[in-house]
Amino acid sequence: MIFLNGQFVPIEQACVSVLDRGFIFGDGVYEVIPVYSRRPFRLTEHLSRLQHSLDGIRLSNPYTVEQWCELIAQIVEQNDGEDQSVYLHITRGVAKRDHAFPDVSPTVFIMSNPLLPPSKVFLEAGVAAVTASDNRWVRCDIKAISLLPNVLLRQIAVDAGAAETIMIRDGYLTEGAASNIFIVQDQVLLAPPKSHYMLPGITYDVVLELAAENHIIHEVREIAEDELFTAEEIMLTSSTREIMAVTSLNGQPVGTGHPGTMFTQLHQLYQQYKATHMRGGDDE
Ligand code: PMP
Repeated sequence: MIFLNGQFVPIEQACVSVLDRGFIFGDGVYEVIPVYSRRPFRLTEHLSRLQHSLDGIRLSNPYTVEQWCELIAQIVEQNDGEDQSVYLHITRGVAKRDHAFPDVSPTVFIMSNPLLPPSKVFLEAGVAAVTASDNRWVRCDIKAISLLPNVLLRQIAVDAGAAETIMIRDGYLTEGAASNIFIVQDQVLLAPPKSHYMLPGITYDVVLELAAENHIIHEVREIAEDELFTAEEIMLTSSTREIMAVTSLNGQPVGTGHPGTMFTQLHQLYQQYKATHMRGGDDE
Protein backbone atom coordinates (compact mmCIF):
# COMPACT_ATOMS: atom_id res chain seq x y z
CA MET A 1 0.00 0.00 0.00
CA ILE A 2 1.16 3.49 -0.79
CA PHE A 3 -0.18 6.94 0.05
CA LEU A 4 -0.91 9.33 -2.80
CA ASN A 5 -2.61 12.71 -2.43
CA GLY A 6 -4.73 11.87 0.59
CA GLN A 7 -5.48 8.22 -0.14
CA PHE A 8 -4.00 4.85 0.69
CA VAL A 9 -4.07 2.63 -2.41
CA PRO A 10 -2.27 -0.47 -3.73
CA ILE A 11 0.80 0.68 -5.69
CA GLU A 12 -0.55 -0.85 -8.93
CA GLN A 13 -3.55 1.47 -8.78
CA ALA A 14 -1.60 4.66 -8.03
CA CYS A 15 -1.43 7.12 -10.94
CA VAL A 16 0.20 10.52 -11.37
CA SER A 17 -0.44 12.92 -14.25
CA VAL A 18 2.23 13.19 -16.96
CA LEU A 19 2.07 16.93 -16.30
CA ASP A 20 3.26 16.48 -12.72
CA ARG A 21 6.17 18.86 -12.21
CA GLY A 22 8.13 16.00 -10.68
CA PHE A 23 7.89 14.19 -14.03
CA ILE A 24 8.38 17.29 -16.20
CA PHE A 25 11.02 19.24 -14.24
CA GLY A 26 12.19 17.01 -11.40
CA ASP A 27 10.62 19.79 -9.30
CA GLY A 28 10.31 18.20 -5.88
CA VAL A 29 12.07 16.88 -2.79
CA TYR A 30 12.13 13.59 -0.92
CA GLU A 31 13.19 11.81 2.26
CA VAL A 32 14.08 8.23 3.12
CA ILE A 33 13.41 7.16 6.70
CA PRO A 34 14.59 3.82 8.06
CA VAL A 35 12.13 1.97 10.28
CA TYR A 36 13.40 -0.65 12.72
CA SER A 37 10.98 -2.94 14.55
CA ARG A 38 8.21 -0.74 13.10
CA ARG A 39 9.63 2.37 14.81
CA PRO A 40 10.83 5.17 12.52
CA PHE A 41 14.48 5.97 13.30
CA ARG A 42 15.41 9.64 13.90
CA LEU A 43 12.02 10.74 12.60
CA THR A 44 12.25 14.27 14.03
CA GLU A 45 15.57 14.81 12.25
CA HIS A 46 14.29 13.42 8.93
CA LEU A 47 11.21 15.66 9.09
CA SER A 48 13.29 18.70 9.89
CA ARG A 49 15.59 17.94 6.93
CA LEU A 50 12.44 17.60 4.79
CA GLN A 51 11.41 21.08 5.96
CA HIS A 52 14.89 22.38 5.02
CA SER A 53 14.54 20.85 1.53
CA LEU A 54 11.04 22.30 1.08
CA ASP A 55 12.27 25.72 2.21
CA GLY A 56 15.17 25.37 -0.24
CA ILE A 57 12.78 24.96 -3.19
CA ARG A 58 10.20 27.45 -1.82
CA LEU A 59 7.41 24.87 -1.49
CA SER A 60 5.21 25.07 1.57
CA ASN A 61 4.97 21.96 3.69
CA PRO A 62 1.60 20.29 3.00
CA TYR A 63 1.50 18.67 6.46
CA THR A 64 2.38 19.41 10.05
CA VAL A 65 4.94 17.25 11.83
CA GLU A 66 2.07 15.49 13.65
CA GLN A 67 0.32 14.75 10.35
CA TRP A 68 3.53 13.36 8.82
CA CYS A 69 4.06 11.16 11.87
CA GLU A 70 0.52 9.81 11.56
CA LEU A 71 0.83 9.15 7.80
CA ILE A 72 4.16 7.39 8.29
CA ALA A 73 2.71 5.29 11.12
CA GLN A 74 -0.14 4.24 8.83
CA ILE A 75 2.17 3.33 5.93
CA VAL A 76 4.35 1.26 8.26
CA GLU A 77 1.24 -0.46 9.62
CA GLN A 78 -0.08 -1.27 6.15
CA ASN A 79 3.16 -2.78 4.85
CA ASP A 80 4.90 -6.05 5.71
CA GLY A 81 8.13 -6.30 7.58
CA GLU A 82 9.47 -5.16 10.90
CA ASP A 83 12.21 -3.16 9.19
CA GLN A 84 11.16 -0.85 6.39
CA SER A 85 12.46 2.05 4.38
CA VAL A 86 9.82 4.78 4.09
CA TYR A 87 10.11 7.10 1.10
CA LEU A 88 8.38 10.53 1.17
CA HIS A 89 8.11 12.50 -2.06
CA ILE A 90 6.58 15.93 -2.60
CA THR A 91 6.42 17.71 -5.94
CA ARG A 92 5.11 21.16 -6.89
CA GLY A 93 1.99 19.49 -8.36
CA VAL A 94 0.29 19.17 -11.73
CA ALA A 95 0.14 22.17 -14.07
CA LYS A 96 0.55 23.18 -17.71
CA ARG A 97 4.25 23.05 -18.53
CA ASP A 98 5.73 26.40 -17.58
CA HIS A 99 8.80 27.06 -15.46
CA ALA A 100 7.07 29.62 -13.21
CA PHE A 101 5.55 28.25 -10.00
CA PRO A 102 1.89 27.26 -10.53
CA ASP A 103 -0.87 27.92 -8.01
CA VAL A 104 -1.78 24.26 -7.41
CA SER A 105 -1.60 21.73 -4.58
CA PRO A 106 1.58 19.70 -4.30
CA THR A 107 1.66 15.99 -5.09
CA VAL A 108 2.42 13.91 -1.99
CA PHE A 109 3.53 10.31 -2.34
CA ILE A 110 4.66 7.90 0.39
CA MET A 111 5.78 4.32 -0.11
CA SER A 112 7.55 1.73 1.97
CA ASN A 113 9.96 -1.01 0.99
CA PRO A 114 11.48 -3.79 3.06
CA LEU A 115 14.74 -2.67 4.67
CA LEU A 116 17.38 -5.37 4.55
CA PRO A 117 20.50 -5.15 6.72
CA PRO A 118 23.78 -4.73 4.84
CA SER A 119 25.00 -8.16 3.70
CA LYS A 120 27.48 -10.03 5.91
CA VAL A 121 29.93 -10.28 3.00
CA PHE A 122 30.02 -6.49 2.64
CA LEU A 123 30.39 -5.99 6.39
CA GLU A 124 33.26 -8.46 6.63
CA ALA A 125 35.13 -7.52 3.45
CA GLY A 126 34.10 -3.89 2.99
CA VAL A 127 33.13 -2.46 -0.37
CA ALA A 128 34.94 -0.93 -3.32
CA ALA A 129 34.59 2.73 -4.31
CA VAL A 130 35.83 4.92 -7.13
CA THR A 131 36.39 8.67 -7.21
CA ALA A 132 34.89 11.16 -9.65
CA SER A 133 34.60 14.88 -10.02
CA ASP A 134 31.52 16.33 -8.29
CA ASN A 135 29.65 17.94 -11.16
CA ARG A 136 26.35 18.51 -9.34
CA TRP A 137 24.73 21.86 -8.66
CA VAL A 138 25.68 23.87 -5.56
CA ARG A 139 22.59 23.11 -3.44
CA CYS A 140 23.44 19.51 -2.61
CA ASP A 141 22.06 20.18 0.89
CA ILE A 142 18.56 20.02 -0.65
CA LYS A 143 17.30 16.46 -1.01
CA ALA A 144 15.95 17.11 -4.50
CA ILE A 145 14.25 14.38 -6.55
CA SER A 146 16.22 15.53 -9.62
CA LEU A 147 19.00 13.01 -9.11
CA LEU A 148 20.40 12.74 -12.65
CA PRO A 149 23.97 13.70 -11.67
CA ASN A 150 23.87 11.23 -8.75
CA VAL A 151 22.53 8.51 -11.05
CA LEU A 152 25.31 9.12 -13.58
CA LEU A 153 27.94 9.28 -10.84
CA ARG A 154 26.72 6.06 -9.18
CA GLN A 155 26.80 4.29 -12.55
CA ILE A 156 30.54 5.02 -12.79
CA ALA A 157 30.91 2.84 -9.67
CA VAL A 158 28.55 0.16 -10.98
CA ASP A 159 30.45 -0.01 -14.28
CA ALA A 160 33.69 -0.48 -12.31
CA GLY A 161 32.11 -3.24 -10.15
CA ALA A 162 32.22 -0.90 -7.13
CA ALA A 163 29.56 0.04 -4.59
CA GLU A 164 29.93 3.82 -4.44
CA THR A 165 31.38 6.85 -6.20
CA ILE A 166 33.17 9.27 -3.89
CA MET A 167 33.05 12.83 -5.17
CA ILE A 168 35.72 15.50 -5.22
CA ARG A 169 35.01 19.20 -5.74
CA ASP A 170 37.87 21.67 -6.17
CA GLY A 171 40.32 19.19 -4.66
CA TYR A 172 38.20 18.35 -1.60
CA LEU A 173 35.99 15.42 -0.65
CA THR A 174 32.27 16.20 -0.68
CA GLU A 175 30.31 12.93 -0.30
CA GLY A 176 29.26 9.73 -2.05
CA ALA A 177 26.65 9.54 -4.84
CA ALA A 178 24.14 8.44 -2.15
CA SER A 179 26.13 8.47 1.10
CA ASN A 180 28.37 10.56 3.34
CA ILE A 181 32.05 9.72 3.64
CA PHE A 182 34.36 9.59 6.66
CA ILE A 183 38.07 8.83 6.68
CA VAL A 184 40.62 7.91 9.34
CA GLN A 185 44.06 9.53 9.43
CA ASP A 186 46.51 8.96 12.32
CA GLN A 187 43.67 7.18 14.15
CA VAL A 188 41.52 10.32 14.04
CA LEU A 189 38.03 10.07 12.56
CA LEU A 190 37.62 12.87 10.00
CA ALA A 191 34.40 14.14 8.45
CA PRO A 192 33.90 16.94 5.93
CA PRO A 193 31.91 19.90 7.34
CA LYS A 194 28.27 20.36 6.33
CA SER A 195 27.87 22.87 3.52
CA HIS A 196 25.81 23.45 0.39
CA TYR A 197 28.06 20.87 -1.27
CA MET A 198 26.74 17.87 0.63
CA LEU A 199 23.55 16.43 2.03
CA PRO A 200 23.46 16.76 5.83
CA GLY A 201 23.18 13.02 6.46
CA ILE A 202 21.16 11.78 9.39
CA THR A 203 23.50 8.80 9.74
CA TYR A 204 26.48 11.21 9.52
CA ASP A 205 25.07 13.01 12.59
CA VAL A 206 24.52 9.73 14.45
CA VAL A 207 28.12 8.65 13.77
CA LEU A 208 29.53 11.98 15.00
CA GLU A 209 27.33 11.81 18.11
CA LEU A 210 28.47 8.26 18.84
CA ALA A 211 32.09 9.31 18.34
CA ALA A 212 31.66 12.21 20.81
CA GLU A 213 29.85 10.10 23.42
CA ASN A 214 32.45 7.36 23.24
CA HIS A 215 35.53 9.60 23.34
CA ILE A 216 36.61 8.67 19.84
CA ILE A 217 38.98 11.36 18.64
CA HIS A 218 37.32 13.06 15.70
CA GLU A 219 37.49 16.26 13.74
CA VAL A 220 35.13 17.92 11.29
CA ARG A 221 37.23 19.65 8.65
CA GLU A 222 37.83 19.86 4.92
CA ILE A 223 39.42 16.66 3.59
CA ALA A 224 41.80 17.06 0.64
CA GLU A 225 41.65 14.55 -2.23
CA ASP A 226 45.19 13.32 -1.44
CA GLU A 227 44.12 12.39 2.08
CA LEU A 228 41.61 9.94 0.68
CA PHE A 229 44.42 8.02 -1.00
CA THR A 230 46.56 7.86 2.14
CA ALA A 231 43.68 7.22 4.54
CA GLU A 232 43.99 4.37 7.04
CA GLU A 233 40.27 3.79 6.67
CA ILE A 234 37.37 5.10 4.62
CA MET A 235 33.72 4.62 5.60
CA LEU A 236 30.41 5.45 4.00
CA THR A 237 27.16 6.11 5.83
CA SER A 238 23.52 6.26 4.81
CA SER A 239 20.12 5.44 6.23
CA THR A 240 19.81 2.27 4.16
CA ARG A 241 23.46 1.12 4.17
CA GLU A 242 24.11 2.23 7.76
CA ILE A 243 27.91 2.24 8.06
CA MET A 244 30.21 0.37 5.73
CA ALA A 245 33.95 0.12 5.31
CA VAL A 246 35.37 1.14 1.94
CA THR A 247 38.34 -1.20 1.52
CA SER A 248 39.34 -0.42 -2.03
CA LEU A 249 39.52 2.92 -3.83
CA ASN A 250 40.07 3.14 -7.59
CA GLY A 251 41.26 -0.48 -7.48
CA GLN A 252 43.89 0.11 -4.75
CA PRO A 253 43.54 -1.19 -1.17
CA VAL A 254 42.55 1.33 1.50
CA GLY A 255 44.90 0.87 4.50
CA THR A 256 45.27 -2.87 5.04
CA GLY A 257 42.55 -3.57 2.47
CA HIS A 258 40.29 -4.88 5.27
CA PRO A 259 37.71 -3.13 7.48
CA GLY A 260 39.69 -1.29 10.17
CA THR A 261 39.34 -0.92 13.93
CA MET A 262 37.52 2.44 13.70
CA PHE A 263 34.92 0.87 11.42
CA THR A 264 34.50 -2.13 13.72
CA GLN A 265 34.02 0.12 16.74
CA LEU A 266 31.58 2.50 15.03
CA HIS A 267 29.62 -0.34 13.48
CA GLN A 268 29.22 -1.96 16.88
CA LEU A 269 28.17 1.33 18.50
CA TYR A 270 25.68 1.94 15.69
CA GLN A 271 24.11 -1.50 16.20
CA GLN A 272 23.85 -0.87 19.95
CA TYR A 273 22.26 2.50 19.32
CA LYS A 274 19.74 0.91 16.93
CA ALA A 275 18.93 -1.75 19.52
CA THR A 276 18.23 0.95 22.12
CA HIS A 277 15.95 2.68 19.61
CA MET A 278 14.10 -0.58 18.91
CA ARG A 279 13.40 -1.01 22.59
CA GLY A 280 11.90 2.48 22.59
CA GLY A 281 14.84 3.90 24.46
CA ASP A 282 15.58 7.08 22.54
CA ASP A 283 13.70 10.34 22.17
CA GLU A 284 11.18 9.24 19.53
N1 PMP B 1 24.40 12.06 0.58
C1 PMP B 1 23.56 11.75 -0.43
C2 PMP B 1 23.77 12.40 -1.76
C3 PMP B 1 22.53 10.82 -0.23
O1 PMP B 1 21.68 10.52 -1.22
C4 PMP B 1 22.40 10.20 1.05
C5 PMP B 1 21.35 9.16 1.28
N2 PMP B 1 20.10 9.72 1.40
C6 PMP B 1 23.29 10.57 2.07
C7 PMP B 1 24.28 11.51 1.80
C8 PMP B 1 23.18 9.97 3.45
O2 PMP B 1 22.13 10.56 4.16
P1 PMP B 1 21.33 9.78 5.29
O3 PMP B 1 22.32 9.30 6.28
O4 PMP B 1 20.40 10.79 5.85
O5 PMP B 1 20.62 8.64 4.60
